Amino acid sequence: MKIPFTLFLLTFIFLSASYSVDSVAVRTCSSVTALQEKMALDPEIAARRASLDMAAQKWLEDNSSQRLSNSVITIPCVIFNLYHDSLDSLSYEQLTSQIAALNKDFSNSNADRLSSSHPYFSSMGNTTLQFCLAERDPDGQATSGIIRQKVTNTFANKDHIKYSKDGGLDGWPSDKYLNIWVTKVNDATFLGQADFPGIYAEGSVHDGLIVQYNAFGTVGTLDGTFNKGRTATHEIGHWLNLNHIWGDEYCGDDKVSDTPVQEKENYGCPAFPHITCSNTPNGDMFMNFMDYVDDACMVMFTQGQANRMLATLNNSRSGILSSGKCSGTTSIGQNGSSGWRIYPNPAQNYLYIEGLPVAGHPYFTVDFYTAMGQQVHTLQLRAGENMLEMPALPNGTYVLHIHDGNFSGTHKVSITQ
Ligand SMILES: [Zn+2]
Repeated sequence: MKIPFTLFLLTFIFLSASYSVDSVAVRTCSSVTALQEKMALDPEIAARRASLDMAAQKWLEDNSSQRLSNSVITIPCVIFNLYHDSLDSLSYEQLTSQIAALNKDFSNSNADRLSSSHPYFSSMGNTTLQFCLAERDPDGQATSGIIRQKVTNTFANKDHIKYSKDGGLDGWPSDKYLNIWVTKVNDATFLGQADFPGIYAEGSVHDGLIVQYNAFGTVGTLDGTFNKGRTATHEIGHWLNLNHIWGDEYCGDDKVSDTPVQEKENYGCPAFPHITCSNTPNGDMFMNFMDYVDDACMVMFTQGQANRMLATLNNSRSGILSSGKCSGTTSIGQNGSSGWRIYPNPAQNYLYIEGLPVAGHPYFTVDFYTAMGQQVHTLQLRAGENMLEMPALPNGTYVLHIHDGNFSGTHKVSITQ
């Protein structure tokens, strides 16, 4: 029998399309599935997680009267780039661009944050978490915080990424570092996966997050849909015990009070408002980092989510607080005994200045100098406020001189716009 040529051609095209898919069309996340699989194998995980949830809840109640987010916590990161070839051997610029993206997303200073006219504007939270590449390895030696290793395992089993004995690479003690493995995972549906607290014993070298190589950072080898570093932002949310915003159930509970109930995950870039589960008038908070929308459309954590993450850091992940593996100068500066801070660094559209002494004047003056000492801008920071809208200056490093009649301090900050 002769097969009509057009049928042959159509079959060929169909098969080609079916087998050429090499990137994820919509967001996926395997953290919850991995948690459920590990809980089914080890009943102690459920007990550990129940007890850490109670401790975190108690911490939130005990600390409810004070401002939860008045001190910056810097999380030392180590990036393990396990590469197979030039495709997933990522540049220094790509790897570090992820850290810069995290520092903006977690301080609510990302350029695409909601505008003041958006109904969810007042729900946006600043976690005050910042991230740095580790400057000391577990033996106390100086490190760049980036470890590269050639591998041959294609990681059909994702856990193998985190085990040297299985062709991956053991991480560093997770009570001191956030381990981030970046590699090409041979699974066209894979984007990212993180370990919720309590899966592993405290300090395990297998705890952290895995991110697909082309969804990591904001420059370099990137999938066009996942090119703003939000896969890592979302996964670190899980690492600090955030649930998906729909609670992984139909109209479920994510255990955070200031996120609205919503039916299920959202994909792509939904139109606002998207009403489900009677959540009128504003509908799903699909622009939340813990939904499944595209990178360009997720822009915020809520203050409730920020508080839940801080509670985790003050309980089950408290080793991070005293890690000391970054001096802190990578992202946050200390200046003299007053301990004032500037973040994020590099800065884009917004800059936070915290910890300034009580002003004797209504304004602090903030002067911008180039590295050559030329003053290029000046603006005023009202006493008691801490957020500056950045002036439009060429990218580069500047020295900020902040002063009023009584106080004077300087700090370097990089601007990338
Ligand atoms: Zn997730």
